[in-house]
Parts: sequence; C-alpha cells; structure tokens
Amino acid sequence: MSEDKTNSADVRNDRVVTTTNGMPINEPFATQRVGKHGPLLLQDYTLIDNLAHFNRERIPERNPHAHGSGAFGYFEVTDDISDICGSAMFNKIGKRTRCLTRFSTVGGEKGSADSARDPRGFATKFYTEEGNLDWVYNNTPVFFIRDPSKFPHFIHTQKRNPQTNLKDANMFWDFLTTPENQVAIHQVMILFSDRGIPATYRNMNGYSGHTYKWSNKKGDWHYVQVHIITDQGIKNLTAEEATEVAGSNPDHAQQDLFDNIKKGNAPSWTVYIQTMTEDQAKRLPFSVFDLTKVWPHKDFPLRRVGKLVLNENPENYFAQIEQAAFAPSNTVPYQEASADPVLQARLFSYADAHRYRIGPNYHQVPVNCPYASKTFNPAIRDGPMNVNGNFGNESNYLATDKTYQYIQKERPIQEHQETWTGPAVPFHWATSAGDVDFVQARNLFHVLGRTRNQQQHLAHNVAGHVSNANPEIRKRVYAMFGRVDLRLSESIRKEAESLVVLKDNPTSKL
Ligand code: NDP
Repeated sequence: MSEDKTNSADVRNDRVVTTTNGMPINEPFATQRVGKHGPLLLQDYTLIDNLAHFNRERIPERNPHAHGSGAFGYFEVTDDISDICGSAMFNKIGKRTRCLTRFSTVGGEKGSADSARDPRGFATKFYTEEGNLDWVYNNTPVFFIRDPSKFPHFIHTQKRNPQTNLKDANMFWDFLTTPENQVAIHQVMILFSDRGIPATYRNMNGYSGHTYKWSNKKGDWHYVQVHIITDQGIKNLTAEEATEVAGSNPDHAQQDLFDNIKKGNAPSWTVYIQTMTEDQAKRLPFSVFDLTKVWPHKDFPLRRVGKLVLNENPENYFAQIEQAAFAPSNTVPYQEASADPVLQARLFSYADAHRYRIGPNYHQVPVNCPYASKTFNPAIRDGPMNVNGNFGNESNYLATDKTYQYIQKERPIQEHQETWTGPAVPFHWATSAGDVDFVQARNLFHVLGRTRNQQQHLAHNVAGHVSNANPEIRKRVYAMFGRVDLRLSESIRKEAESLVVLKDNPTSKL
C-alpha cells in the first residue's frame, strides 16, 4: 500500500509521516491489541504519542482578550516627526517596518461571538531594527479605571458570576455605579454608544489611551497619545444586528478580516499623534496620567505620522496569533511609558501573563522573536523550552573581560525629565468629588448629538442591558446617567422599566 502512494504524483518523499521522535509510521489508524478484539497495548507509541499530545494542544487563553484575530503587514512613514521621536522606525519618509496586529474582544472567552458589546483590543507588534515595539491599544481612547488595583475586580464583573456561570447585569452595573468607580462613566458612554459594537475590525480606530513619553535625539521630550484612524470608515452594528450576527456567524469579524486580505483588499489605518509639553500638562484641568480622559482635539491637534497596512494573513493561527505575545513593556529607544499608573501596572502584567501562558521563553517563539534586531544577553538563559541554542558556551553573566559592548548611542541622558520625590503613600484614585469626571462624558453626549439618533441609541442600548439588573441597581444606573444628562437618564429609565414589565409579564405585550 505505501509503495502505491509513493508512486502517486502528489505524494512527496520528504513527507513520510512519523511519530514525534521521527520513526516512520506504517499504519496510523491501527492500534496494537491483544488479538484483533482484545485490549490495547501500552507499548503502542503511535497511539500514545498521538493522544498525549492532543491532550496538551491548548495553552491557557488570555484573561482577558481571549478571543481575537490577526494579520501581518507594514507601517510606512509618511511624515517627518524627528522633532518628536528619534526611534529608527520613523527616521525616513517612506520607510517600512513589518508588523503584526491582533484585534480582540475583552471579556468573552476564546470562541465567544465577535459581535459582543465590548471594547476591542488593537495590539500591534513592530519588528524594528532597534527591537520589537508593541503598541497594545484599544479601539476606545479611554478606559474604565485609573486605579490599576481595580483591574481584576473590574474584569471579573464583565465575566461570569461564580455561581451561575452566567454574565451578570447586577455585577456589571454594581461595579460601575459604585460612587468611587463612576470615573468609568466616559468609557461606559462609548461602550453603549454606536461605537460599542464595531461592524468589523477593519471599521474601527485604535487609540493608545495612555499617555506615553517620546523624545527626539536632542533629548527634548513630549507627552504623546497615538490615534490609529481607520481608512475604511467607522461602521458599527446595532444591538439587534449584533444579536442576529452572533447567531448566524459568530466569527464574522475573523472572517471579514481574513477574506478581505485574501482577496487583496488590504485594510489600512492612518496613524496620528497628539503631543503635549510638560508645561501644557501642568495647565490641564485633569491629570495627563488619567486614562479616563482624552486630550481635546482643538487644544492638541492630530499630527499625521504614517500608514498601517495589513496585507498578509497568518499561515497558522495558533503559531502566529494565539502564541503572539504583546506587552507595552516591549519598547524601543525614544518611546517610553509615562507615569500613568494603569500603564505602569501593564508594564509588569502583560509580559507576566505570557510567561504563564506560553512560558518564560515566550520570546523565542518565532512570532515574538525580535528578528529584525540582533538580540544578545547571555545572562538571560535556560528555562523551560529553551530552543535557540541557549548562547552555547558564552559565560552566564556579563563578565568584564568579554567582547560585549553597551551602546549609549546618541541618546542623551535625560536628567531634566520629570523628577519624582515623596514618601511611599497609599493613593486611591477614586472618582473625584464634584463633576470633573463627568465633563468629558457630557462632551461625548454632545458629540453624539451631532449625528441623528446616536443619543437615542445610547439610551436604548443601556436600557436593554440594565433591564436585567435588580431594581436597586437600576436606580443607581439612572442616577449615574442623570449626572451626564437628565433627558438621557429619563429615556433609559422609561425604556428599561417597560422592558422589566414585559419580562415579568410577557403576555402584557399582547
Ligand atoms: P471633537 O469634536 O474635536 O472630537 C470629537 C471626536 O469624537 C471625533 O473626532 C470622533 O473621534 C469622536 N466620536 C464621534 N462619534 C463618536 C462615538 N459615537 N463614540 C465615541 N467617539 C466618537 O471633540 P473633543 O476632542 O473635544 O472630544 C469630545 C469628545 O469626543 C470627548 O469627550 C471624547 O468622548 C470623544 N472623543 C475624543 C477623542 C479625542 O482624542 N479628543 C477621540 C475619540 C473620541 P475620532 O476622530 O477619533 O473618530
């Protein structure tokens, strides 16, 4: 039988099927048994090899951002920003840097529907000559919290109730309406606005959200926010469309991305930055490190930098997307994190998540390798699944008499940057007293008013969700939205309470 196959035109001699130790398998579907119908033999390594590896196919899913899609492409510089940033990736107009972008939902498990009302992750890894740079962004310019210690609490409320194993409107709104957590209102408004369910990954923007610190080669530095604006235009699904799509094609966004790239319709985004000086930051009515605030366009106009194009589907989803490890701590010269506390916490927790999920040598997985730059640090070695030669016979510490060099390059030591002094204090950055954390939510409500029905959609979307919560929590939700706009709160209340009546008494509709 095997002889017949090797003679066939399609069968290749270099593709003999083997066990994982390379022994050719004669008959893959036969099992060794005692007689034709007796029990199996433990010595049947073809079977054991197969079953044992199957049991280990999965790696832990991300918590959160478990469900996602991705593609490769390039970033091309269109405008000179050397006065702002000295990174090599920006040093020439027309320069292209290969990149990988992964889009995701946040709360749902791997395999959940693409059309969830949820922020979307928008993470890009740039394979630059100075190392891998990860921009680990979202499709919203703000976030729910600014106390990083709240992150696990908040995410738990978006996931499942520990007893019912169901999504839980009480948990969801209890967290968000607790007075100290109402700083989330701005993000909640975006989440329940039309932009809360992007029609596809191609039809949404990406935002750094956090403030970063970029410097030029002279050592001048600015606070920076990045905006990645879709060239396909913003398109969204209504709550009703999203429910329908979740049933008819729960992977619609994955399919849309893959199919468009496959047929040559590569999606692109225009990348802009907003910049701010330290003096300007001191005069802001909010903290420059507050992740719940945007920088108004009129005061901090967008400045174009380049184009992000995704034109190459992965060959293998698991190897290149599931194992892709993005972390804001992966940065390059001239791009630094700011003191934004949520960003500071992410600098630790993202890389740590990958150490758990993939292993401490996750950076050796090809998709995560900084292949465009040269890596060399023989003090970081060993560990599980070390597969790159482990620096051979190099010493395992950085010895003084070796041939290494440490490159300061032309990077000036930035002693004049922010200086921090003070005692170690516990600081809980809860919602401010008064109205300051509601100002931008109110601005957004006015922005929504510029387009027909957007304010009504917001009320409708909140009402549908909150109608699943208990009466006490519903009251808290109406009161919270009343701080944005009393008509908004009233519209939510009216629709939610009528939905509650319908749910309690389904025949009342007749
Ligand atoms: P502008 O009038 O200059 O900008 C309003 C921005 O709102 C638009 O440029 C657009 O952002 C964004 N937008 C439009 N519709 C929606 C929606 N349904 N959901 C979320 N965002 C929407 O005003 P400001 O810069 O003073 O900002 C006013 C409000 O706009 C802010 O409070 C914030 O909520 C929102 N916004 C502001 C952004 C900023 O960086 N300044 C970014 C995104 C939203 P885009 O052009 O990025 O698509």
